[in-house]
Amino acid sequence: MTSIAVIGTGYVGLVSGACLADFGNTVICVDNNAEKVDSLRRGIIPIFEPGLDAVVARNVQAGRLAFTAGIDEAVKNSAVAFIAVGTPPADDGSADLRYVEEAARSIGRIIENYTVVVDKSTVPVGTGRRVAAWIGEELDKRGRGTAFDVVSNPEFLREGSAVQDFTHPDRVVIGSESERARQLMKDVYRALYLNETPYIETNLESAEMIKYASNAFLAVKITFINEVANLCEKAGANVQDVAKAMGRDGRIGAKFLHPGPGYGGSCFPKDTRAMAKTGRDHGEPLSIVETTIRANERQKQRMTAKIEAGLGGPGSLAGKIIAVLGLAFKPNTDDMRESPAIAICEGLVRRGAKLRVWDPAAMKEAAWRLASVKDSLFFAQDEYDAVKGAHALALLTEWNQFRNLNLVRVKSLLALPCFFDLRNVYKREEVETAGLDYFGVGK
Ligand code: NAD
Repeated sequence: MTSIAVIGTGYVGLVSGACLADFGNTVICVDNNAEKVDSLRRGIIPIFEPGLDAVVARNVQAGRLAFTAGIDEAVKNSAVAFIAVGTPPADDGSADLRYVEEAARSIGRIIENYTVVVDKSTVPVGTGRRVAAWIGEELDKRGRGTAFDVVSNPEFLREGSAVQDFTHPDRVVIGSESERARQLMKDVYRALYLNETPYIETNLESAEMIKYASNAFLAVKITFINEVANLCEKAGANVQDVAKAMGRDGRIGAKFLHPGPGYGGSCFPKDTRAMAKTGRDHGEPLSIVETTIRANERQKQRMTAKIEAGLGGPGSLAGKIIAVLGLAFKPNTDDMRESPAIAICEGLVRRGAKLRVWDPAAMKEAAWRLASVKDSLFFAQDEYDAVKGAHALALLTEWNQFRNLNLVRVKSLLALPCFFDLRNVYKREEVETAGLDYFGVGK
């Protein structure tokens, strides 16, 4: 049992804190957003993440998990301090490290005993050394020589299945040069270690690079199949058959070969941009990543153009009502950060459309993320309410409840029979049998 502080109680910090407590550690989660801490203390989980509420509740109940807005209290009594704050994109594409620096300096101002400081946030290669320097500077100001080590332990959880991912990871990456720190990290993850989860022990820089290289690779894979899909559309091929056959090749693998409206979310867009920036800064441009970023932007624009073309070509969106199903960047989350739905909704409105939108979890997020087009939005009550009187249906996020729509009912509610399935959830035949015109991606 290790005493742990987790700084930052967002998607990663809250899941990590709750699951580390579930592994038997004593965890105190700290956030400088007092409102968030307040609701967590009252048992309200501020994000939509399946299964998380139960993990939080049972560990709070067992006395292994607590929440505070006071970083002093959290860090002073902990052997390990995780930094899990946001690293949003700065204007030049680099990762904005101001929250990481703030957390690191706070640690330097507080620690009294040997502490392992763990970078869980996604940070560019070289940041671990800077974290050590920031902590060192603050210790110097205090005239203290308290020992500490910095470890890079990037997180690979996916929103929507975060609890399962954290408790059953493909690998745990530990970047550190300190044997003492590595041993403590093994204690922290003892429950997984005993389960023979693969441990990758490496240096700080490699651990930091692993996270970016993994995310960039996945973004490239998605973008590759998106471009193949676009070509399939022109050439009369069906991308789903192409992807299925490609995926059977063990060297390629079937995952992340699903074409769609472009990748989004809190990680891929910002991490690809940050990695590209790091490449340029080091004089080693990552041309594939740079191209992927541009192609992904084009893909989102392409979806708006696809809907316009399906409705009759340039000018056809003026005065039309489009039902938009799904706003979160993927199912089972309320996260709309860089969701393709934002660019697509804005694009549709720019071309004169009005929107009836519905998402099972992201309506609260949508109220401010779509503020720029709010005058053209109607917030529907459910999927059928969204479709009512619309000239087309655009399916943007593949929530389970959208996989099984009553297509005959949809047809009867729509003013025009147009179904844009931008996640390729449906088979053309079943949609056409219901009397709707079908538009997928790459088929
Ligand atoms: P988030 O924005 O949801 O949460 C960050 C939290 O940190 C916020 O609650 C904020 O109030 C808090 N915070 C900021 N500065 C603080 C400080 N000085 N003291 C205390 N609290 C502070 O972010 P997130 O999605 O959890 O991402 C965190 C990091 O993890 C990022 O680097 C991200 O790239 C990485 N990551 C995210 C995911 C994901 O799916 N969201 C997956 C893997 C890695």
